[in-house]
Amino acid sequence: MCRGLGLPIRASWMHAHLRCRRCDLIYVADLPSRENLVAAYQRVHLDPYQVQHKQQWQAWMQHKELTLDRLRIAAPAGSRRALDVGCGEGRMMLVLRQRGWEVEGLELNDVLARQARELGLNVTTTAVEHASPAGRYQLITMSHLLEHVRQPLQVLRQVHRWIEPGGLLVLETPLSPDFDNIDHLYCFSPAALILALQRTGFAPHRFFDYVDDNYHHHNLACVAHRM
Ligand SMILES: [Zn+2]
Repeated sequence: MCRGLGLPIRASWMHAHLRCRRCDLIYVADLPSRENLVAAYQRVHLDPYQVQHKQQWQAWMQHKELTLDRLRIAAPAGSRRALDVGCGEGRMMLVLRQRGWEVEGLELNDVLARQARELGLNVTTTAVEHASPAGRYQLITMSHLLEHVRQPLQVLRQVHRWIEPGGLLVLETPLSPDFDNIDHLYCFSPAALILALQRTGFAPHRFFDYVDDNYHHHNLACVAHRM
């Protein structure tokens, strides 16, 4: 991404990884094919434990509330279209809807997308790379998505076209590398994330990091203005 030199990391992960000497981005040495990735995400579905336990849902919803509060995402005035990319079963969408946003979602996995639709949410089953939503949004959220896609810069450029000038992009991504499964292809350092946003037409302006109560992972959250 920054054209810095990537050096191999010694670790026991399933695949070989490199770390950029300049921006600290960690990335898989060999990207899986798009076909293999799409097939993998069609198989993944949520642990029934997580669906059945309302308490877990409550904790996750509270976590989303906290993220939006800490990033100072105000209730919308006037136009209020929001899109959650990689919406899963719709937790962030529910929170945004409660806060007055007219929210739509994109989800690659059809099991999760159907669960979200059962909650009355407007979700399209598609890969972000193939989506073409009508009109522009004032807010796009992407929680734990960027580390999963083959071409993060391409996805950022794409969502840039979907946000109104001056609109907001909210991102969450893990700070601690977790490459035990096939699904994480990148681990962004704060420097690498800032660079990715700046290179794709965003002005990042608020960050915080936190440890996830559910998984105890160290994560980074950020809001950026669309330039
Ligand atoms: Zn770099």
